[in-house]
Amino acid sequence: MSIQSIVTPGDKICVEEEFIPQTLTYAENGDVRALVVGKPVFDIINRRVYVKPLKNIEMPKSGDIVIGVVEQMRDEIAIIRFIGYDANRTFKHTFRGVLHISQASNTRIQNLYEVIRLGDIVRVKILNNYIPYLVTMKDAKLGVIEAFCSRCGAPLYRDRSKDVLRCRVCGNIESRKIAPDYAYILHK
Ligand SMILES: [Zn+2]
Repeated sequence: MSIQSIVTPGDKICVEEEFIPQTLTYAENGDVRALVVGKPVFDIINRRVYVKPLKNIEMPKSGDIVIGVVEQMRDEIAIIRFIGYDANRTFKHTFRGVLHISQASNTRIQNLYEVIRLGDIVRVKILNNYIPYLVTMKDAKLGVIEAFCSRCGAPLYRDRSKDVLRCRVCGNIESRKIAPDYAYILHK
C-alpha cells in the first residue's frame, strides 16, 4: 500500500484486495484510485477506503497557460507533468496533461519527436476543465522553453540563424517547436 498524504484524480491509493473502494474512489484493473483531490482515509477494521476531498485546491482550468515537463512520450502522444504557471507560482499538487500530435505544431509533423523530447520543459495551454487534461502547443508563444541534448544531456542552445537547437558540448543539432523566449541563446 502506498502512503500518500494527498492524492489527485487518477492516483493509485491501494489495491482492491487490501481495501474496498468507497466514496470518491474508483477501481481499475484491481487498483483503487482517487476521483478527486483529497486525503485517502483507510478504515482498517472494515477494510474500506474513501477520499476526503480537500477544499480550495487550485485546479488548472481551460485556457490556462502552464509550464510542464515532458514526462512520457510516444510517436503520437506525450504526457506533460504540470509544474506551475511560472517559476513563482507552482502547483502544490501533481497534475498532468495529454499532448496529442495534432495539437503539437501548426506545421505538419510525422512524429512528436520532431517537436519535443523526453525531459523538455514546455509551455502549453490547457483545453478542458476535467481530468485527463488535454493540452495544446500550437500557438506561437507556446513550445519548448528549455531542452537538453539527447546524446550528452547538456543544455541545448538556440541557434537563431537556423531556428534549431545546438549542443555546445558534443555538437549535436536537434529540432523542436521552440518558444520565442527559449532559455539558452547562442551568441556568436
Ligand atoms: Zn550534446
